[in-house]
Order: sequence, then structure tokens, then C-alpha cells
Amino acid sequence: MTDCLFCRIANKEIPATIRYEDDTFLAFADISPQAPSHTLIIPKRHVDSLSAATDDDEALLGKLLLTAQKVARQEGLLEDGYRVVINTGEAGGQTVRHLHAHLLGGRDMQWPPG
Ligand code: 5GP
Ligand code: ZN
Repeated sequence: MTDCLFCRIANKEIPATIRYEDDTFLAFADISPQAPSHTLIIPKRHVDSLSAATDDDEALLGKLLLTAQKVARQEGLLEDGYRVVINTGEAGGQTVRHLHAHLLGGRDMQWPPG
């Protein structure tokens, strides 16, 4: 059994509110939402972070963004807009070491981010 939280969610060992799933990705509600709509999109295969991705992950990274778009459409965010964030490494604010994109929407976002 893996000790990676998001691998365990991908394996359905830990429950989550699933918003989208295919063979490669899982999208589920963030447990601590920072916006009215806050979804995490993860590859089912473990990748530590964006910094750990290689040229072999080119298709995976492209599909990650297209999956974010798909979930944004499903969540009704396309018209008003939304934000996709990939926190990377310690200073980047990454707390779970399994690559994930945050999809945030349903309110106006601020810039610069904190
Ligand atoms: P990070 O800080 O690494 O960019 O994002 C990790 C995210 O995972 C946080 O927004 C946090 O709320 C979320 N999270 C942490 N533990 C769980 C969990 O057990 N279930 C779900 N659904 N989200 C989690
Ligand atoms: Zn993992």
C-alpha cells in the first residue's frame, strides 16, 4: 500500500467526491475549498511534482490542462473564467507530493496571488 495520499485517492482507498474520471486522470473536490468551485485534477500515475516531469510526460501534461478545461466546462466556469494552479515545491506551496492542478472558479480571483 502506498503512503501517497493522492495515489490512495486514485486507488479508491480513501474516499473523495469525484467530478471526473478516465483511464489517466481523476478529478475530485478539494477537501478545503478556496473558491465556490475547487477541484483537484491528478494523473492516476504517481508523478512527484511538475519539477519531476520529463519529456516523456509531454502528453500527460497537455492532457492535464485539457482535463482541467473539461472539468471547468462541467462546472459551468467557461463563461466567467477560472484559474488553474500547479503549486510546485516548498516555496511554491505544494503540500501533497503528487502532481495536481487546482481548478478554481465561481468568484473573482486576485492577482498577484499570495
Ligand atoms: P497543494 O497545497 O499541494 O497545492 O494542494 C493540496 C490540496 O489537497 C490542498 O488544497 C488540500 O486542501 C487538498 N487536500 C489535502 N488532503 C486532502 C484529502 O484528503 N482529500 C481531498 N479531497 N483534498 C485534500
Ligand atoms: Zn502519488
